[in-house]
Amino acid sequence: MSASISPPSATTPITPGVVTGAAYKALIQRCHLGRYALPAVNVSSSTTANMALEAARRNRADIIIQISAGGAQFYAGRGLPDKQQAHILGAVALARHVHLLARHYGVAVILHTDHANRPLLGWLEGLIEENRQHYGQTGQPLFSSHMLDLSTEPLEQNIATAATLLQKLTPLGIGLEIELGITGGEEDGIGTELTGHHAAKNPELYTEPEDVLTAWKALSPLGMLSIAASFGNVHGVYKPGNVCLRPSILRDSQALIATTFQTEPNPVPLVFHGGSGSDEQDIRHAVDYGVFKLNIDTDTQFAYAQGVATYIDAHKEAFRRQVAPDTGRPLKHEYDIRNWMRAGEEHCIARLTRAFDVLGSRGKSVVVS
Ligand SMILES: [Zn+2]
Repeated sequence: MSASISPPSATTPITPGVVTGAAYKALIQRCHLGRYALPAVNVSSSTTANMALEAARRNRADIIIQISAGGAQFYAGRGLPDKQQAHILGAVALARHVHLLARHYGVAVILHTDHANRPLLGWLEGLIEENRQHYGQTGQPLFSSHMLDLSTEPLEQNIATAATLLQKLTPLGIGLEIELGITGGEEDGIGTELTGHHAAKNPELYTEPEDVLTAWKALSPLGMLSIAASFGNVHGVYKPGNVCLRPSILRDSQALIATTFQTEPNPVPLVFHGGSGSDEQDIRHAVDYGVFKLNIDTDTQFAYAQGVATYIDAHKEAFRRQVAPDTGRPLKHEYDIRNWMRAGEEHCIARLTRAFDVLGSRGKSVVVS
């Protein structure tokens, strides 16, 4: 199974639900042909997962739902004493949740795990075993793709570990996302939060097209590969001037690979990390240069928090006491968890609607008739 964009997969039927194997590849192909991208939303709970599914359904769009190790630990519950076990169990719990519900929302979902650096390789190995068991039972893995982030290590080491992983993932129909060059900032305990104005001047944040070529040449024959090639991306949102994106790095990488292998334009499925707070024009350029996945975490977290905060502001009394002192009216309905979480979901869905618009994926679901 090759990740290179080839015509046959464009006709593979895609049904609502989690896409894996040929259907995963076909969905990426549709993004490529339609020149649009999907938002990749980090979730850590059933409410955020359902919010993402609803956002996709309301926008008649497909979506990428992803979970980090920290998000998985929260999904499993902070009370679980074994953190390593919680990383695996939480990710499996999310995957089973999304497999059960996604088809009923009537959209296609790419289910993915976010940044796994060297210390988190055990997490990936545990998930591969879970994928294997699920594949044995249902003929489908739990996840569409996993991410390996060895961007701080030498390229050869990054590629060697990615090759080992792909040999295990490909027979299960699972793709692999790798990172080349470093995404700045901190997300979920990986990386370092920016403190000054140094981000835009850090050369490590800008990958070399030659490195993208080297990785593509070595890894794309082994399976379904996507590449997060850094072009100044930073996790989190900072004040203007701190981040300087150069999407031309993506254009140059695609051109180098297309020329080297004599392929059609944009042969590599690219991933944009740190999409939150990015200039819309930079995002559109990145999509033009073959980005099919835009990671958006900080902005959706903020949107959810804003929705909850607005609700609490409007119902202050109910968050202090159970009965209104002046009227004697019970306030149960107002502090009901479902109502203030719903306010977060609604606000977050509005933020994702903007993301679908910018990425060109609104109304483009491949499974909605
Ligand atoms: Zn990232």
